[in-house]
Amino acid sequence: MKRLAILLALAVAQTPLAAQRATALVGATLIDGTGRAPVPAATVVMRNGKIECAGRCAVPAGARRVDVRGKYVIPGLVDGHVHYSQTGWADGRPDALDVRDRFPYDSTIAALEAHPERFFRSHLCSGVTATFDVGGYPWTWALRQRAERSTDAPHVAAAGPLLSTRDHWVNLPAQRQFVHLASDSAAQAGARMVAAYRSDAVKVWYLVGASSPDTAGQKSLLRVAAREARRAGIPLIVHATDLWAAKDALRAGARLLVHSVEDRPVDDEFLRLAREAGAFYNPTLTVREGYVQLRERRFNPQGLPLECVDPSTRRRAFLTDSLPPARGGDNAAFRARIAEGYRLMLANLKRVHDAGIPVVMGTDAGNPLTLHGPSVYREMIAMASAGLTPMEVLVASTRNGARAMGRDDIGTVERGKAADLVVLEANPLTNISNVSRISLVVRGGRVWTRRELEYR
Ligand SMILES: [Zn+2]
Repeated sequence: MKRLAILLALAVAQTPLAAQRATALVGATLIDGTGRAPVPAATVVMRNGKIECAGRCAVPAGARRVDVRGKYVIPGLVDGHVHYSQTGWADGRPDALDVRDRFPYDSTIAALEAHPERFFRSHLCSGVTATFDVGGYPWTWALRQRAERSTDAPHVAAAGPLLSTRDHWVNLPAQRQFVHLASDSAAQAGARMVAAYRSDAVKVWYLVGASSPDTAGQKSLLRVAAREARRAGIPLIVHATDLWAAKDALRAGARLLVHSVEDRPVDDEFLRLAREAGAFYNPTLTVREGYVQLRERRFNPQGLPLECVDPSTRRRAFLTDSLPPARGGDNAAFRARIAEGYRLMLANLKRVHDAGIPVVMGTDAGNPLTLHGPSVYREMIAMASAGLTPMEVLVASTRNGARAMGRDDIGTVERGKAADLVVLEANPLTNISNVSRISLVVRGGRVWTRRELEYR
């Protein structure tokens, strides 16, 4: 009897899903994320969390009709480089600026683990419906399932703890986000541990240059980690910012480079290696701007819709201005050095893109003053300033991001894909900054007005 009751309950629970009413967005220009020409006056039909038809579609009988004439439909944005183990301010990065006397690091991290939903909402509010956390504490793996089932969070992929060639100290006494590759056997153990948690990637911090004292040893560590990743069928992500290290990462089989090559122009050999490795290039152009602002004790919220930022993060960002001045060092020289590197990063992005290497948009959100959610706009505008067209920036920020996450079920507005999309008030193809002019956000078929997602 009890069993029958359970079966009946299951049947009842499943019936509404099977018979779910369709929702049709009618009349907007569709920019589907594939790079194809926009479709004016399109219809997008969604049902059961999926896209049933996109483009020239009939509105099914009984569908809920949403009039979006004069607006623009794009896929939900993918931030291909975030860290849920970081807050977006100094409290999560004591190595950048130590404020632990006022904001103890252990309680900061405990709060992040307990309340990831505050950043989930910031992401959705900013039109971001998928994120790739490319390094953090082990609990970031658990965010994936939680977010996947939910229509109030982006899809999450997570790489878990970073395997680092340098023994970085920003860890908790009983938990590590940086696993030191002290030896080949440590590299093997680290990569196997990550694989055992069904990680979406093995991430290596490859902080090594051609002139490193132990280049051969470092190269070996990377290759041991790469071999274990390959064995487990997991992609290798490498943080490598020097041309030499980035090339070596590609030779070792890196599938995704996070950060730009920023010490010199990329050359033909780099492009060939990237092509051969089938690698994605995530230039992460703007994260250093946050470090400059932190150092100058001046938070610049220009262009950031702060209504998408939770009140606690917002308050701390504005505390930047009241921090005691930095001791030592020349702020102007620091800014000039960052600006010079930035120009090189833009030129490298253009070169990599023109060579046909797939480019992915990513912000490194969580780093100081690179805020989860709205920082995508700053990054997309920077990519356009490198010479990518708005359409190319959109593809990098949707389809390519999804592919880099290993997902082919999200990232474009096409039949059969997840119903994750954004309705904009203005045309992003005439000015990429129009991606911030959001009217509606749809995640898993659930339609949110931008207003509903804001923190007021
Ligand atoms: Zn990062």
